[in-house]
Amino acid sequence: MEDLIIIGAGPAGLTAGLYAARARLKTLMLEKLSPGGQVLMTDWVENYPGFPDGASGFELMDKMRRQAEKFGLDIKSQEVSRLDVLPEKQIIVTDNGNLESRAIILACGATPQRLGIEGESLLTGKGVSYCATCDGPFYREQEVAVIGGGDTALEEALFLTKFASKIYLVHRRDKLRATKLLQERAWSEEKIEIIWDSIPKRIVGEAGVEGIDLKNVKTGEESRLSVQGVFVFIGYRPNNELVKNLLELDERGFVVTNKYMETSEVGVFAAGDVRSKLLRQITTAVGDGATAAFAAEKYLENLK
Ligand code: NAP
Repeated sequence: MEDLIIIGAGPAGLTAGLYAARARLKTLMLEKLSPGGQVLMTDWVENYPGFPDGASGFELMDKMRRQAEKFGLDIKSQEVSRLDVLPEKQIIVTDNGNLESRAIILACGATPQRLGIEGESLLTGKGVSYCATCDGPFYREQEVAVIGGGDTALEEALFLTKFASKIYLVHRRDKLRATKLLQERAWSEEKIEIIWDSIPKRIVGEAGVEGIDLKNVKTGEESRLSVQGVFVFIGYRPNNELVKNLLELDERGFVVTNKYMETSEVGVFAAGDVRSKLLRQITTAVGDGATAAFAAEKYLENLK
């Protein structure tokens, strides 16, 4: 039996893994994709302290993984399909058999929110994208729409200026949600045009995106924007499938914890974007991960 199983290898999970490995807990990390989490979809990170010139999302996560592994963290590529919580132990069902652990840290993150409009599913991967870093280079000298007004939408719109000839930033209000610095950059970027007070109604095209139908929420006016790509950045939903009927969740489905990262089930901790909290950043994920590992260590000590 493991002391600790960490589910998810993003910044929260890798930091928890680093602390747990240094605490000499018998720890296993399970990740269904490659270590790094959502940061791998970010081209450039410039608000993680210690990197005054910024760092690529890949570089930052590669360093976090190597640092945790250096202290002995065992990372396995396995998808968890079920979680059973029993008194003083948890059973983790994976595609490779069952595992047992005395404590668990859920660091399974969040997934980009879908618009849920006509044409979106059909054209995903054919012009509809949730990752500018992955798909931006396909839109050299083409016109694209970015949906959303938060940090992600602005950061990604700015990134897309390297490739696209024009970026329409479609936002449903008349004020952006993003950090002021990103707003200033977007406003001074000639290729970015903001379309205010508008929501997407339909993505048009069959073999590829040909345009997007918009509705102005103030005037009711409908229009079609001719674009070859639609990038959707309207927030995230928690990856809570494993714990939906197990743990207390907030009204948006994020896992509720106390300040020690303890969830409603004893021995189950949560860290990072899957957790209900004010600010979802790499910096806050890292803090959650350290706290969760420390709290798990104290919990395990009390079990003995
Ligand atoms: P977010 O802050 O939740 O913003 C989502 C944006 O999408 C908002 O502007 C929202 O409009 C809009 N939106 C939501 N649902 C919509 C819908 N159905 N149709 C049209 N528009 C819709 O999400 P995010 O930008 O992905 O950021 C998530 C978290 O990560 C935030 O805490 C953010 O600060 C953080 N983040 C930080 C950085 C950074 O520090 N460099 C980079 C990326 C993300 P309203 O404004 O009207 O609600």
